[in-house]
Amino acid sequence: MNLIIIGPPGSGKGVQSSLISKYFKIAHISPGEILREEFEKKTKLGIEAEKYWRNGNLVPDEMILKIVKKRLKQKDCKKGFILDGFPRTLNEAQKFLRFSKLNNVVLLDIPDKISIRRITGRRECSKCDAIYGPEIPSKKKRICDKCSGKLYQREDDSPNVVKNRLKIYHKSINPIINLFKNKRLLAKIEGSGSIQDVFNKVKEKLTT
Ligand code: AMP
Repeated sequence: MNLIIIGPPGSGKGVQSSLISKYFKIAHISPGEILREEFEKKTKLGIEAEKYWRNGNLVPDEMILKIVKKRLKQKDCKKGFILDGFPRTLNEAQKFLRFSKLNNVVLLDIPDKISIRRITGRRECSKCDAIYGPEIPSKKKRICDKCSGKLYQREDDSPNVVKNRLKIYHKSINPIINLFKNKRLLAKIEGSGSIQDVFNKVKEKLTT
């Protein structure tokens, strides 16, 4: 099962991908997360890419395509994968289809207002990457419920950067949607409900 999940910042791609990956026993691949890890490790790729994502701009297609291609060759992708937040340009989508099979694309749709509220209130665990936010608050302030790790705000989740990310999303997403729609791969899902409600809708779309 080879899947893609796309949607605006804060649409729940990360949370839903993680549920999908556990449910269908497939690999969860987030190029954004890979870039953040590379930056933490201070690799050349990580340092180069950070110049783009810090301000909410897209990292060049070729850099992302290289990361995705390499990651898909790993053993845990044999049974399938969910690509979270890829593609973000038509070029990425077209090139991806040249080297990989694809079964379904989930588009999580939410209004900009909810996107901004969720993203600016989002906190991530520095140890286990668990995600919290206005709709999923942690029990203790700034402490992860799961592993007691410290919660932090992603640098690109600040209000100004989020506005830029949303602007870029709206500018680039339509041709990608049309491409997948024409190939009858697209499942559009309203993403503003609860995590479980959205996941139930996703499961239904992916299994019927
Ligand atoms: P994400 O964690 O998916 O929100 O991604 C964080 C940042 O990484 C984005 O704002 C982009 O700068 C960069 N990025 C992630 N995925 C892609 C992609 N498919 N194409 C270009 N840039 C990306």
